[in-house]
Amino acid sequence: MPELHLPTALLYGVLISLAVGLTAVALAVRDRSAYMVAWAAGMAVLALGLAATSLRGVLPNGLSIVAGNVLIVASQALVLAGLYMYRQKRVPWSYLGALMGLTGLAFVWGTYGVQDQRQYLGFRIAVLSAVLTTLGVWALWVLAGLYRRGERSMVAFALFAFAAFTAVVALRGVVGWRLTGDLPAVHGPAVLVTMLSGFSLLLQGLAMIGLHTERLTDRLDRLAHTDQLTQLNNRRHFEQQAARLVERATRSHQPLALVLLDADHFKRINDELGHEAGDSALQAASDHLRKHVRPGDLCARLGGEEFVLMLPGVPLEVATERAQAIVQDVVRYCPPGQTSAPRELTLSAGLAVLHPQDVNLAALVRRADAALYQAKAQGRHRLCLAPAPAGPNRPNPSEGLSS
Ligand code: GH3
Ligand code: MG
Ligand code: MG
Repeated sequence: MPELHLPTALLYGVLISLAVGLTAVALAVRDRSAYMVAWAAGMAVLALGLAATSLRGVLPNGLSIVAGNVLIVASQALVLAGLYMYRQKRVPWSYLGALMGLTGLAFVWGTYGVQDQRQYLGFRIAVLSAVLTTLGVWALWVLAGLYRRGERSMVAFALFAFAAFTAVVALRGVVGWRLTGDLPAVHGPAVLVTMLSGFSLLLQGLAMIGLHTERLTDRLDRLAHTDQLTQLNNRRHFEQQAARLVERATRSHQPLALVLLDADHFKRINDELGHEAGDSALQAASDHLRKHVRPGDLCARLGGEEFVLMLPGVPLEVATERAQAIVQDVVRYCPPGQTSAPRELTLSAGLAVLHPQDVNLAALVRRADAALYQAKAQGRHRLCLAPAPAGPNRPNPSEGLSS
């Protein structure tokens, strides 16, 4: 086996933690997310800890051994704290502090409390390995919670990276616990495992950046398909999802119902009470709809005071019952700054169920819209059903809703 030199391996670790740390700092400055700040701090502390450890013999033992190892442990405690923040859970600082305190005591004893401390290299390696393994398993447990919550792809990679890190720090204990002598004398498998620690550290850093990227992508996705005022899905999201539901229902011959809803005399609210009152009425109407939405339904604000509810797998009778329940209930809202009794808003709705002659989403929407128009014409605050199409329901190229 070629000669491997421990201080070089440690220096390699310093460089990796600096690279990961600088990336984390750049991201933390840009984004200011608490978890990224914790990870950036963790990597900076790790670089310091590894540098102190690799300067064994140059720095006094108190700095090189005690402070160096405590800083290495502190860095992983910060990484773990960042994972808690990422998961939006309270960080157990007291447990982390206690673990660091115990580590500090063990190293103070291993450095000053024994006569021939060259005998205690193995002890120090074993203590560091045990504490880092504990923190690694703890981190895996926090990540597993995220995985169960449904955040999958990057969390799976992070689980792999943290598992690799944990395995390597545990292996370092297994290989090194019987070593005696001083650090520069260490060679062979122990150095190889130290280099592997650097590699798994790089994986850990990439996983942290991956987790951050996934969070940002999720946030962008949510923004792109959410209506800002009502927090319902927006029109764009509706069009994408609904076209898919129409295709699926056509292919599988499953029922599909579409309810178009429009607030009655909404313009009066704006004119008489102001635009803000109109906004709070729209929010109340959305909350009202949300109460009626069931898993699998697609609900969205199409724009203005117009909403849509798509009910996959729901036959005509059930869809009619559900749409009737939505329309029957009056929406109550309180205009901002007014203490008077809540005001009332009613909805009109048009319902159409997918028919083999509906060639696409636009065709189905057009029939529901005609039924809604009829509900308005008949006096509002009611539901009208669209009759089955007479002939092939071809799309009109000027229609807004895509096929
Ligand atoms: P109808 O019963 O026939 O549906 O009458 P209406 O008054 O509800 O319908 P109309 O289309 O005449 O008016 C809709 C109004 O909704 C006009 C527009 O200013 C208002 N509006 C659209 N979007 C918003 C919004 O985001 N906030 C507020 N406050 N008003 C909005
Ligand atoms: Mg209206
Ligand atoms: Mg309208």
